[in-house]
Amino acid sequence: MSMTSAAIRQAFLDFFAGKGHAVVPSSSLIPGNDATLLFTNAGMVQFKDVFLGQDQRSYSRAVSAQRCVRAGGKHNDLENVGYTARHHTFFEMLGNFSFGDYFKQDAIRYAWEFLTEVVKLPRERLLVTVYATDDEAFAIWQNDIGVPADRIIRIGDNKGAPYASDNFWAMGDTGPCGPCTEIFYDHGDHIWGGPPGSAEEDGDRFIEIWNIVFMQFNRLASGEMQPLPKPSVDTGMGLERIAAILQHVHSNYEIDTFVALIKAAAAATGATDLTDKSLRVVADHIRSCAFLIVDGVMPSNEGRGYVLRRIIRRAVRHGNKLGAKGAFFYKLVAALAAEMGDAYPELRAKQAIIEKALQQEEEQFGKTLERGLQILDEELSGLAGTEVPGTLVFKLYDTYGFPVDLTNDVARERGLSIDQAGFDAAMAEQRKRAQQASNFGLDYNQQLTSAVQTGFTGYTEHFGNARVQEIIKD
Ligand code: ATP
Ligand code: MG
Ligand code: MG
Ligand code: MG
Repeated sequence: MSMTSAAIRQAFLDFFAGKGHAVVPSSSLIPGNDATLLFTNAGMVQFKDVFLGQDQRSYSRAVSAQRCVRAGGKHNDLENVGYTARHHTFFEMLGNFSFGDYFKQDAIRYAWEFLTEVVKLPRERLLVTVYATDDEAFAIWQNDIGVPADRIIRIGDNKGAPYASDNFWAMGDTGPCGPCTEIFYDHGDHIWGGPPGSAEEDGDRFIEIWNIVFMQFNRLASGEMQPLPKPSVDTGMGLERIAAILQHVHSNYEIDTFVALIKAAAAATGATDLTDKSLRVVADHIRSCAFLIVDGVMPSNEGRGYVLRRIIRRAVRHGNKLGAKGAFFYKLVAALAAEMGDAYPELRAKQAIIEKALQQEEEQFGKTLERGLQILDEELSGLAGTEVPGTLVFKLYDTYGFPVDLTNDVARERGLSIDQAGFDAAMAEQRKRAQQASNFGLDYNQQLTSAVQTGFTGYTEHFGNARVQEIIKD
């Protein structure tokens, strides 16, 4: 069965509407009234207060297709883009929700029915995980659904576990959370990777498509787990991942919504190899950047705006690598609006604003990018060892506007890492100088361009300290 992304999205909404779910539109990427969260990173975010029992709705079950960004905070996939077949900074999460209505059994039944009867995935390609001690979920999969026991894998909460799997889902450090069960699809043994819980689980052979969370607790800042007033269900399935399966491709970057973007990126940069990793990065980044601007974020030196700036600069660097001459990134907005404007009319309505913001940002960064890259290149070719010194990372950041992750991206391509501690020390040193300068009321404040221009101080203003440290580390 082959389905377009638009058809899959609609089929999902229709299926759950048919099961009594209210169809709720996607909320903004900027979480309303939630200072603990950088961006909306899952479908449940707009329902957080409903899970907590602090907000009442007229419905007890809901379905949505939620735009999500994972480029900072607890769920950060920025570094995965270009390296895996399944991660984006921006993606759409299809989800159904129960607010104290149905629980484990129906949640699992619905998901299985959608996958095997509506979009008709072959059962033998699917395997599932459950939380290590969740015998109830295990029994539902085995007895009710008929999944063989050897295709049901118990996964813990990753405390001290050797691998990345984690079957205890949390939106952030605090908030609603609970054990989960995940559904994986086996793309076949021609692709490297192993089942969840194995040493090769990070490969892209077995791809997680759907996560079903049994929301049972509210984690407080103290670490205490408070039981929620009513056990609930929160699920999320990546539209791009299910589309890849249904369109018979392995990588998310080969699905319908990406093909046009990758072609547009090639045309705008002069690249000819359509499988180039940098084209994928650029195609990914135009989506997150455009949607962030649609939702009111503008490139800036602080908070969310600085995350946006980092993503834009990263895209510009990859464009440069592909051979782009001058500003190219903003030209992709038209292709994106053509591709996704039906689902998100705001993209068309704000197309000119998005283009202008991106073009300005590109032109500004374009002035220092080439010189910075040249310096980086010279230094790296003379580098002893495999670590880029923190002082160099700082100089690039300070003088040439290179966000740390951008320098790290370049370093990683050459098998190098960066000295983060050295960078942090250089940064702290500069803050101290800036502080002293302002204490003395001296005029050379003006010369201290960077701490002010590209500093991270805005995180503090936006999120308070503990959170700030975590976000910066990402
Ligand atoms: P993974 O283990 O592959 O990183 P995850 O466990 O972090 O995924 P969840 O937080 O469980 O993902 O999100 C629910 C679903 O959203 C996933 O099962 C997947 O289909 C989709 N998804 C998550 N992160 C991304 C991403 N960065 N890009 C595209 N789809 C994603
Ligand atoms: Mg993840
Ligand atoms: Mg996972
Ligand atoms: Mg998951």
